[in-house]
Amino acid sequence: MTAHTGFKVAIVGAGPSGFYAAEELLNNEVQVDMYEKLPVPFGLVRYGVAPDHQKLKLVAKVFDRTARRENFNFFGNVNVGESLSLQALQTHYHAVILTHGASQGRKPGIPGEDLHGCYTAADLVGWYNGHPDFQDLAFDPSCRSVAIIGHGNVAIDIARILAKTPAELASSDITSAALHRLSTSRIETIHLIGRRGPAQTRFTSQELRELGELADAEVWIADDGLTLNAASREELQDKKNLVASKNYEIFTGFSRSGTKRRRIVFHFMKFPVAMYGKDRVEELHVGLNELEGAAFQQTARATGVESRIPCDAVVFSIGYRGNGLLQSGFDAAQSVYVNTEGRLPSGDGLYAAGWIKRGATGVIGTNKPCAQETVASLLADLRTEPQTAKAGSAAILPLLTDIPTSFSDWESIDREEQARGQAAGKPREKIVHIEECLALTAASRR
Ligand code: NAP
Repeated sequence: MTAHTGFKVAIVGAGPSGFYAAEELLNNEVQVDMYEKLPVPFGLVRYGVAPDHQKLKLVAKVFDRTARRENFNFFGNVNVGESLSLQALQTHYHAVILTHGASQGRKPGIPGEDLHGCYTAADLVGWYNGHPDFQDLAFDPSCRSVAIIGHGNVAIDIARILAKTPAELASSDITSAALHRLSTSRIETIHLIGRRGPAQTRFTSQELRELGELADAEVWIADDGLTLNAASREELQDKKNLVASKNYEIFTGFSRSGTKRRRIVFHFMKFPVAMYGKDRVEELHVGLNELEGAAFQQTARATGVESRIPCDAVVFSIGYRGNGLLQSGFDAAQSVYVNTEGRLPSGDGLYAAGWIKRGATGVIGTNKPCAQETVASLLADLRTEPQTAKAGSAAILPLLTDIPTSFSDWESIDREEQARGQAAGKPREKIVHIEECLALTAASRR
């Protein structure tokens, strides 16, 4: 059945912002076709949210309902920009929303960062979460000391996954290959290194608190890391800064017995300078910062003092970046499309939502108002100008060389993953290779 408005919109990317945008468009009686590079949907929920945070993944059920609505199609295994041009979507739809996210890690640009044993958070998270692009990562379980750079929630997720025992991970949907490797892990120390102080971390309190509840790991604070300057004390007293003061309370409450096998050591006011090692990383050099300026305007300044942290692996968890599908109008430094309320300045029916619109910030739910804002801009534009009929997917499908996967193909994959998981006592065993997903969907269609 045709949507009442007759408008057809293509969405590029099947992560949270794509699904929230789809929901909003469907509520406004617009036909929505979603194109996704991978054969399966859900992006960040499937491949970014930590495998032991199953409750956070429940939001996929909301997306599931959206996908079953009338006037919605999912076309997986379609790589816009490679197997299908963006131009083709622009021609055959009234508008295109780019929600392809920011899935690549960032590195700080310092000596030694490409040594063996150095990873970005995107690599490591993608590996243990079963993302097809990261399955070649060979995390070395023999390492004893890992340094994670960055004091955000992704850094905490990684520290927690590396610190958990196999029993603690058993009920997660970590891939069996990653679980096997981590089961033989000899990690003793996980350093969490942040360039500012305990009053300026980006953690949410629940995630921070969870580190103190691990079966065989305990939290230490390096040096006199919890000492605050006057401006930081003032920041923590501000009633609008509740998360920071809660976090500080959690930091002070971590107790160390020395009886657990693993230590998670928080380092404050330290930034990475260089990594050294012969065949692989052996040592991280860090510089010591101090904060200067008034409360809430403090900036970190290097003191010139440096120290060394021996480690066999370094993980850069300093944010994510994505690539633009356009030559111009993409701010590579910020990794976002230049936009006004989701509208790209080119004025030719292009919009953006999610991380590729506003940067890699916020929790899953942050993408809902972000997508709603974009859809409001899009609908306002479509309603202002007279519109001609568009062919939508009827014109796109003949252009594709590979058969796209449908949402019902995903449902077959989902059922198979859950069945494999059940046998292992976990929510699902992800199918991590694209070829296997495609073979399975081909078989289920016969
Ligand atoms: P983030 O929250 O932005 O944290 C990035 C960290 O890297 C910050 O500590 C930042 O320090 C540091 N950093 C940036 N550039 C650096 C450099 N060149 N050298 C040293 N340190 C550097 O990013 P994220 O952890 O990747 O998380 C992305 C988003 O996903 C966040 O909004 C996060 O809350 C969300 N997320 C949520 C959950 C959850 O709700 N459970 C889980 C995972 C992720 P400064 O603060 O000094 O800039």
